[in-house]
Amino acid sequence: MPQPILVNVTEEIVRGLVKFLLFGPEYQTFCHCEKCEMNILADVLNKLPSNYVSNEKTRSEVYKKLNTPIYINIVNKEIIRSIYNVGKNPGHTSLE
Ligand SMILES: [Zn+2]
Repeated sequence: MPQPILVNVTEEIVRGLVKFLLFGPEYQTFCHCEKCEMNILADVLNKLPSNYVSNEKTRSEVYKKLNTPIYINIVNKEIIRSIYNVGKNPGHTSLE
């Protein structure tokens, strides 16, 4: 029997997209520290419905179901909004 897991598929998708956007050419001027990255992740994940799964089979099914241009577009919009929010209030001084 396969090992049970507990994964939020939304989180997996968001983590990848946050990295991609934050380290992309458009957001070079924003802080890239781990603190800000986690801040953005928490903010976005609080806005989007979670999609928890408990096994690999459902995980890949849900991943396929979510990985559509429409959904990715919604997620990207939330991430960009959060990048700007966190950029305005980084939660640390520029010296930290
Ligand atoms: Zn930072």
